[in-house]
Amino acid sequence: MRTPIVRVRHATSPPPSGCRWCGDPQDSHGSQWIASVGMHTWAEPTREQRLQRMRARRSAARA
Ligand SMILES: [Zn+2]
Repeated sequence: MRTPIVRVRHATSPPPSGCRWCGDPQDSHGSQWIASVGMHTWAEPTREQRLQRMRARRSAARA
């Protein structure tokens, strides 16, 4: 039987200004490989991503 693999890269939500692809902060990013986009360097998150991350952090803090 196959177990579905759920990949959770961050147990907690990434910083609001983290990479738009993987969520890692810019200063420690460098070049990284992730399955969804492959090799990439830090990219600015969209406005919407920042908002969602801030919201996620807020609700995580409340829990
Ligand atoms: Zn990244």
